[in-house]
Amino acid sequence: MATAAGTIWVIAETNADGTLAKSSAEVATLARTLAEAAKASAVGIVVAADPKAAAHELAGYVPRVVAIAEPAADGNAWAQVAAQRVAPILASEAPAAVLTGAGPDGRDVAGTLAALLERPVLVNATAVAWDGGPSVEMSAFGGKLITTSAFADGEWGIVTVRPNVVTAEKASAAGKVEARKADGELELPVIKIVDRIEEAAAALPIEEARIIVAGGRGIGGEEGFKLVGEIADALGGAVGATRAAVDSGWIPYAQQIGQTGKIVKPQLYLALGISGAIQHKVGMQTAGTIIGVNRDPDAPIAEFADLVVIGDLFEVGKALLAELGSRG
Ligand SMILES: Cc1cc2nc3c(=O)[nH]c(=O)nc-3n(C[C@H](O)[C@H](O)[C@H](O)COP(=O)(O)OP(=O)(O)OC[C@H]3O[C@@H](n4cnc5c(N)ncnc54)[C@H](O)[C@@H]3O)c2cc1C
Repeated sequence: MATAAGTIWVIAETNADGTLAKSSAEVATLARTLAEAAKASAVGIVVAADPKAAAHELAGYVPRVVAIAEPAADGNAWAQVAAQRVAPILASEAPAAVLTGAGPDGRDVAGTLAALLERPVLVNATAVAWDGGPSVEMSAFGGKLITTSAFADGEWGIVTVRPNVVTAEKASAAGKVEARKADGELELPVIKIVDRIEEAAAALPIEEARIIVAGGRGIGGEEGFKLVGEIADALGGAVGATRAAVDSGWIPYAQQIGQTGKIVKPQLYLALGISGAIQHKVGMQTAGTIIGVNRDPDAPIAEFADLVVIGDLFEVGKALLAELGSRG
C-alpha cells in the first residue's frame, strides 16, 4: 500500500502535578516513528487548565505541540472536556491517524471523539506499524490470539495504545509549542469530580519499576508475600503478582500483571511460584531478563524465561536474600 502524508496526532494526558503522563511520552514516541514511516508529521495536543509544563515535555518527543488552556479541565472529568476542544481541530485538519493511551482517560477521550466525529476506534494496541495507515496488533481471546487490524481504505481513525508497549525516546531536537486559548462554550455537559480516592499501591508503581519481583499462587498466602516484598526491597524493585494471587486477596489489584492487569517492561522480572499462563505472560514478556523459581520443571514459564531455578521458592528466596544481605 502507498504511504499517506498527513498528520498523526497524539492526545496527551497529564499527571496531577501538571507534568506529562509517562504513557503519553510512549505514545508520542510511537507517533513520531509512524510519522517517519508515513512521511507524515507528528503533532501533540495538550488540553489542561495549565498545559505549559506538559506541552514543553511533549515537545521533546514530537516536532509540534498545540497547548490549549482550558480552565474546565480542572475539577471536571478531563476526557469529555478535552474531546470537545480537540474535535474541531481534528475535524478541520483531516489527520492520518489519532493516537491516545489505553488507560481510563485515553479510552474515554477516544470514545468521546469517536462519537463526536463519527470515526472508528481500534483499542488496546500492543504494537502499531504503518502500512498506508495504522496496522494495529491487538491481543484477543485471553492472549491466545494476536490480531492485526486496519481502518477501511481512506478512513482515518483513533488508536488507543497500551502502556509499556513502546519505550519513550526523545527526539534529537525539541519541537515547537503553539499556545491556544479554548474557544467558545463547551456544548456537552461537563462531569464534575466530587471526590478522589487514592488506590492503595506500593511506593514504587510497577509500571515504572526497573526490577519486579512477582508472586503467584505458589506463594501460598498474604504471609508469603512478605518474603516477596523483602526480596524486592533488597533489589530496589517493586512487587508484582498474578491474578491468582490477587483474586485470593493476598495483594491489591494495583499489583496485578497481565491481560486484565498491567503491562510491565522492567529490566529484570523475578517470578516466584508463577506458572507462566498466557494471560500473565502478555503482561511481562517484554521484560529484559525473566527468571522463574518453580518446583515444576515443566511449568510453561520454562518455555519463555531466560532462566528457571527448579526448587522451592521459599528455600531459594531465603537463600537469595541471605546472599544479597552478605553483599550489602
Ligand atoms: C480472561 C482472563 C484474564 C486473565 N488475566 C490475567 C492477568 O491479568 N494476570 C494473570 O496473572 N492471570 C490472568 N488470568 C489467569 C491465568 O489464566 C492464570 O490462571 C494465572 O496467571 C495463574 O496464576 P499463577 O501462575 O499464580 O498460578 P498457577 O497457574 O496455579 O501456578 C502456580 C505455580 O507455582 C508453582 N509452585 C507452587 N508452590 C511452589 C513452591 N513452594 N515453590 C516453587 N514453585 C511453586 C507451581 O508449580 C505452579 O507452576 C486470566 C485468565 C482469564 C481467563
